[in-house]
Amino acid sequence: MTDPDRPWRYLNQPAETQPWPQRQQEVERRLLETLHMVMKRSRAYDQIYRQAGVDLTCFRGLEDLARLPIIRMSDLVARQEQDPPFGGFETVPAGEFHRIYINPGFLWQPGESPYGDTSVAEALCGGGILAGDRVLNTFNYHLWPYAHMLDDSLKTIGATVLPSGTGNAFMQVRIMQKLAVSAYMGTPSFLMTLAQRAEAMGLDPAADLDLEVAVVGAEMLPESLRQRLEGKLGITVRQSYATVYLGCLGYECRQANGLHVPQGMLVEVVDPQSGRPQPPGVAGEVVASNFNPAFPMLRLATGDLSLWAEGECPCGRTSPRLKRILGRMDQAVKVRGTFVLPSQLDELFASHPEVFKYQAEVSRHRDQDLLNLRVEFIEDVGDHVGLRRLLERELHEFLAIKGQVEVVPRGTIPDFHGNIVDRRKWD
Ligand SMILES: [Zn+2]
Repeated sequence: MTDPDRPWRYLNQPAETQPWPQRQQEVERRLLETLHMVMKRSRAYDQIYRQAGVDLTCFRGLEDLARLPIIRMSDLVARQEQDPPFGGFETVPAGEFHRIYINPGFLWQPGESPYGDTSVAEALCGGGILAGDRVLNTFNYHLWPYAHMLDDSLKTIGATVLPSGTGNAFMQVRIMQKLAVSAYMGTPSFLMTLAQRAEAMGLDPAADLDLEVAVVGAEMLPESLRQRLEGKLGITVRQSYATVYLGCLGYECRQANGLHVPQGMLVEVVDPQSGRPQPPGVAGEVVASNFNPAFPMLRLATGDLSLWAEGECPCGRTSPRLKRILGRMDQAVKVRGTFVLPSQLDELFASHPEVFKYQAEVSRHRDQDLLNLRVEFIEDVGDHVGLRRLLERELHEFLAIKGQVEVVPRGTIPDFHGNIVDRRKWD
């Protein structure tokens, strides 16, 4: 159960609360420094940027960012096959790294470079993990690197780690009980498994365990699941958004109103076709750069969709915030230039218990995309004008595009329907 007096800390308060223009200058300085360095020392970047005609002599800084080509995971795979193990993205001899991490698809990654990355430590700290916490790390230590990255970051914070890895819920509950574990790291779904296993063992998870905080990741965290976890375990649940190749790109603080971008990380939300930034409130692909001096990743596309949050966070951190991760690019349908995801519709309708079923239909008329949202109510309410207008307004607020809502009789929308159907025909 979370102690009401439990403090919340920063990893590096002066840096995290520095006015944004100063932080931006620092990011720009690192970008320019890294670009000049990779052209001299990285075979891959030298080739990629030369082919794209990037001329560093007239590259001014962040304003020219969109001139750098976006790198995709498929590019990494191809280059690693030609130039093993790291594809020539490394800037120091491969032998200087302490580890070679393995990623799914035999994608290699150097680990434990002499230059530490603090993005994950900042995220764990921001999410509520403190020096002195006993942390159960239930990410997989076998093969994949993520558990090790978290483990190293806990060392930076000064917390004690229990490297328990995945599975064996019974044993994990016993460990939590016997060692008074105060923090959890892992997926939200495995945390729910542990809570349920504790109940099945006759325990009250909130009263009989000492857990106070969980920093979850690697999966989506719907608000309903967060609330159930917090209620059942009597803890605070915060999420971090990280990719192994880049580090942490965003994390929730105590306020839980978006994902703060950590120090030293440059995150963009771009139109994937043009590579140009999307305006605030408009969804685009997350592309990020980490400036790691030994293995820099510059403009690596994540395949995730997000949008920027507006306004300042009361926690005092000055970084930009991603509002939330909407889902994967390949699940999205683009309507009038805006990405629409099934999860966004689910979120919209979560606060409408009167709705029985819904389906969005995208069609095309006179070279215009049309979005039509068909809704079945639990009770037949006829063509309820007020409710229809409310849903149309919410649709506009949630998706940043306009659409029409049509109330249809029960039984119109087929069973086992996808909640977005795309009926556009392209020649
Ligand atoms: Zn905050």
